[in-house]
Amino acid sequence: MAKEDKFDVVIVGAGITGAIAAKELTEQGFSVLILEAGAGKSFKFEDYQTYLDNYYTSTVRTPNAPFPATAGAPQPLITDQLGIENGIPQFAEGSYFHQVGPSTYQSTYTRQMGGTTLHWLGTCLRMLPSDFSEKTLYNSGKDWPINYYDLMPYYRAAELEIGVSADVDEQAFLGIEFEPSYVYPMNKVPQSYSDLKLQEWTKYAQFKYDGTSYDYSVVSVPQGRNSTPNPAYNNGKGYVPVGAVGNPDIGQRCEGNAACVPICSVQENTMH
Ligand SMILES: Cc1cc2nc3c(=O)[nH]c(=O)nc-3n(C[C@H](O)[C@H](O)[C@H](O)COP(=O)(O)OP(=O)(O)OC[C@H]3O[C@@H](n4cnc5c(N)ncnc54)[C@H](O)[C@@H]3O)c2cc1C
Repeated sequence: MAKEDKFDVVIVGAGITGAIAAKELTEQGFSVLILEAGAGKSFKFEDYQTYLDNYYTSTVRTPNAPFPATAGAPQPLITDQLGIENGIPQFAEGSYFHQVGPSTYQSTYTRQMGGTTLHWLGTCLRMLPSDFSEKTLYNSGKDWPINYYDLMPYYRAAELEIGVSADVDEQAFLGIEFEPSYVYPMNKVPQSYSDLKLQEWTKYAQFKYDGTSYDYSVVSVPQGRNSTPNPAYNNGKGYVPVGAVGNPDIGQRCEGNAACVPICSVQENTMH
């Protein structure tokens, strides 16, 4: 419980958005209160272990399996979604979602301190410049009032905050540009054997769409997972990876446990 009763800013929700907003505001001297509806664990690593135990003992390992809902903050479950019958989405009895449209939201979110990034995939793609002008380019959807270049400094800030692992040369495709000396905070996560095989097999293959042939290009995805820090980051100042909450000596590197969705065994891909 907060000691004061007056704050400059009150933020509702302790997910990544609320947490970063709070961090920015407190760094500038504002007092901030965050209200979170979901259960809150302390930031001790032992408490994180209870999430892991929930996951290990779950019969169905869905994204929210490690993070059980509390009575005051129910949350959706993948297993509640039973498909669509005669154009009507079906949900299990007692399901959190009540959706009636033909195109339903098929995912979840997490109502816990930490929010949905507790179990996100860590995929940190930038949008393509063309995504912002779909109406002009393809006569489809709407043009955005901002463009890729307006967002570039914010992508950079987010990639620092998350500690993204990727290779700039590999990500500079379909018009994506980076500032001349930019590198991601961490080197790209090495590709798996099957990734490399797929890359090899599709090297000379093409696919046809609407009468035109296109080359395949298999690239890895920028990841919010700790690989090895890139010493060239920030004009050679480097990047210091962030370890687990409450125990920074672990979680500084991805250990390849392959359970990162929904929960990393060493807490290196959840937002800190
Ligand atoms: C399975 C899955 C995988 C994903 N993978 C990726 C990915 O790879 N890359 C990517 O970029 N994005 C991914 N996302 C999306 C990403 O996780 C979310 O966009 C992001 O976490 C949203 O952050 P947020 O802070 O805005 O909201 P949330 O993280 O949802 O946080 C909102 C918080 O507010 C609290 N809250 C809500 N209402 C109230 C209230 N009335 N009072 C108090 N508290 C309240 C909730 O309990 C919650 O803690 C994924 C999402 C899912 C579900």
